Amino acid sequence: MKILVVGSGGREHALCWSIAKSPLCEKLYCAPGNAGISDVAECLPLKAEDLDGLVSFVQENDIGFVVVGPEAQLVDGLVDRMNAINVPAFGPSAAAAELEGSKGFMKDICAKYNVPTASYQRFTDLDAAKKYLNEQGAPIVIKTDGLAAGKGVTVAMTLEEAHTAVEEALSGRAFGAAGAEVVIEEFMQGEEVSFFVLTDGENYLPLASAQDHKRVGEGDTGPNTGGMGVYSPATILTPELEQQVIEQCIKPTIEGMKSEGHVYKGVLFAGLMLTETGPRLVEYNVRFGDPECQALCLRLKSDILPALLASAQGDLKDIKLEWHDETALLVVMAAKGYPASYEKNTVIEGVEDAGSDQAVTVFHAGTARGDDGSLQAVGGRVLGVTALGSDIKDAQEKAYKAVDKITWDQGFCRRDIGWRELARNA
Ligand code: ATP
Repeated sequence: MKILVVGSGGREHALCWSIAKSPLCEKLYCAPGNAGISDVAECLPLKAEDLDGLVSFVQENDIGFVVVGPEAQLVDGLVDRMNAINVPAFGPSAAAAELEGSKGFMKDICAKYNVPTASYQRFTDLDAAKKYLNEQGAPIVIKTDGLAAGKGVTVAMTLEEAHTAVEEALSGRAFGAAGAEVVIEEFMQGEEVSFFVLTDGENYLPLASAQDHKRVGEGDTGPNTGGMGVYSPATILTPELEQQVIEQCIKPTIEGMKSEGHVYKGVLFAGLMLTETGPRLVEYNVRFGDPECQALCLRLKSDILPALLASAQGDLKDIKLEWHDETALLVVMAAKGYPASYEKNTVIEGVEDAGSDQAVTVFHAGTARGDDGSLQAVGGRVLGVTALGSDIKDAQEKAYKAVDKITWDQGFCRRDIGWRELARNA
């Protein structure tokens, strides 16, 4: 079977790396891909946003399955476009992707189907929003309804901050149309953890837990990023809590989406807060996390492709997945300055050496080859140095040993990925 993966990040590198190993995969393409992906797939000069171009390519090249990585193309209906030409595609339809595309939609589904989450209200009117803020008090959380690349959330510790956030969003200044509506919700206290399941709209298959490190600085300080590192599994999500999440969040959501006429297929990524009263949902994402996907792919022993195909085609109940018992830990190497501005086309050396340890895989995100063949950084998050270890300590040691083999003066990483898990195990 010929397969097309859409996207260009570390997540898509991990998906390509896994799919390329499948005996079912005859030929693998990636649009547009990156320098690392080109080692395992043919990269196409097609942007992920070019839905017309992707549809034409699939039609003209007899592609049998499409895997969509990023949320934007899911929300824009790429899976629907592929299904319309009778090509199965991994991920939810545009209507089902609203679980991530609209925070208001997601909160309404949770409310209707009793999924534990923060109490909330939706607003388009500034005065009404401010009145609600004054009634509720701080701390309080303000979210733009639409996608805002992780920047649309303000956890306001004071009412003043909260007022500024709603003014910025509802005026259209900060987020354009994505901020035309806001969700204001209760502040939840606790430790965050992520949990992933595959679903075909009816059946579900639990994958794994993970814990991301969103802040740019060590000790979880500084501005938010797309994620500076991750480990999986996250033992704070005990088997009992995992079962609770499945019963209270995952099952009612899958069933609820079906009842609403928006059958949800693909991966359901639950962002959870482990509060004193149990796990509560922070958000749903409708795609694999980046960097969580890389850690999951490294831990997965089974062929990923039949599971992705079954999710798209509705026969997930026959799929069983085997996992390595080890812990996977990923350290993101980013360009200095990220998440603000940073230099591009800087040269990176030593990546092959870093990946020479059997336990280590270096996934690429913002990389490209220069005319001279050198590996260059062309994005904010650039490499995901990922290691499998017997426990969190072993995985962390292996990952940082590999990081230290990479020479890139214009790059940086956090040196404390996995710190919460290490402290728990100490
Ligand atoms: P991303 O794209 O980075 O996943 P997002 O824009 O989808 O983020 P959320 O995940 O809903 O937004 O929120 C981002 C972060 O804000 C959460 O990871 C969490 O740390 C914090 N947060 C969100 N909602 C709440 C809440 N109700 N109480 C406390 N913290 C919250």
